[in-house]
Amino acid sequence: MSALIDNFIAALQSVLPRGRGPIGLHEPEFGANDRAYVLDAIDSTFVSSVGKYVDRFERDLADFTGAKRAIAVANGTAALHIALEVAGVGRGDEVLVPSLTFIATANAVSYCGAKPHFVDSDECTLGLDPAKLDAGLRDVAEIKGGRCFNKKTGARLAAIVPMHTFGHPMDLDGLIDVAGRWRLPIVEDAAESLGATYKGKHTGRFGVMGALSFNGNKIVTTGGGGAVITDDEKLGDRLKHLTTTAKVKHPWFFTHDAIGYNYRMPNLNAALGCAQLERLSTFVAEKRQLAAAYRAAFAEVDGVTFADEPAGTKSNFWLNAVLLDEKHSSLLVPLLEQTNAAGFGTRPVWTLMHKLAIYADCPRLDLCTAESLERRLINIPSSPCWGRDKEAQS
Ligand SMILES: *Cc1c(COP(=O)(O)O)cnc(C)c1O
Repeated sequence: MSALIDNFIAALQSVLPRGRGPIGLHEPEFGANDRAYVLDAIDSTFVSSVGKYVDRFERDLADFTGAKRAIAVANGTAALHIALEVAGVGRGDEVLVPSLTFIATANAVSYCGAKPHFVDSDECTLGLDPAKLDAGLRDVAEIKGGRCFNKKTGARLAAIVPMHTFGHPMDLDGLIDVAGRWRLPIVEDAAESLGATYKGKHTGRFGVMGALSFNGNKIVTTGGGGAVITDDEKLGDRLKHLTTTAKVKHPWFFTHDAIGYNYRMPNLNAALGCAQLERLSTFVAEKRQLAAAYRAAFAEVDGVTFADEPAGTKSNFWLNAVLLDEKHSSLLVPLLEQTNAAGFGTRPVWTLMHKLAIYADCPRLDLCTAESLERRLINIPSSPCWGRDKEAQS
């Protein structure tokens, strides 16, 4: 066994409790109010498409993020899809997305009839690299009639979707600058970054819209769910309308004025979400404490770096990540095998989008940093309970 792997496991053992059986990568946590609100929703018989918890969840989300509007939907993928559609992405367009992301980012582009155009990531933020994007656009893009086009494919470049990887905010100032110059609307994939801020402002509020996710593995969960946040009231109304079958308001007639979607979040899920949001700030604080413990523990391990929050940001540390030095990248698989065998839920990053057969033909810029990160990145157990004071750990 290599010294690096021994030291890596020792670092995990120094932070995480021993003798509790396998520790998952990320586990949801429920308390008294989670049960009470879900039971209340059941007792009310309003379990489905209407009910007080959906309204409250949307209000609570808007309050927490500071966004003018929050529209709750069935899942984060649906949130991304409807946000892109409302941003004007359509058939034949291209949308700039990082190759290092979860599949939903690229799939949402496909649902609009558009193609993802893959962009490289930055080693420090793990998010899209604005400088590299700008250099790539100078090579492939041109502005015609106030809109941005790919000179090589002829397609319109319709939007850009940055993603805040593992809760670390990407370089938003850099991106806003590049997006402005190339007339590209920004739709943020903030599915992983609820509770994370960039220069004091909540992620998801830097473009025209931001998408959130409340899947079971996210920092707070509704079982399955998502939301779009926006500061534009008109867009908010449009999002609500299109995600609720585009029904025209009327006491009894069913009339629909667009091909909308049944993307609404059920009241039952929103009930759970209301209780989870009550604990979001605590979860963020606990995750930040866990990250501090990992930062210290992994400083002692030669050959790796702890993926820390970028300067000027406050990460929610949804998933903690450690990067192997390039010369140790051959240890990634044995490290995954041995940490999991030792009872620690670890995993590699997603296979890069441009390497999947379904997206192999899509246009892309140079992706060398994303490819390096894919060889070297390992996520380690990140449930908020492990950041809690030892006596209070459950
Ligand atoms: C979780 C996630 C989503 C949305 O996922 P859903 O499971 O559909 O809620 C989108 N993008 C990223 C980067 C994610 O991590």
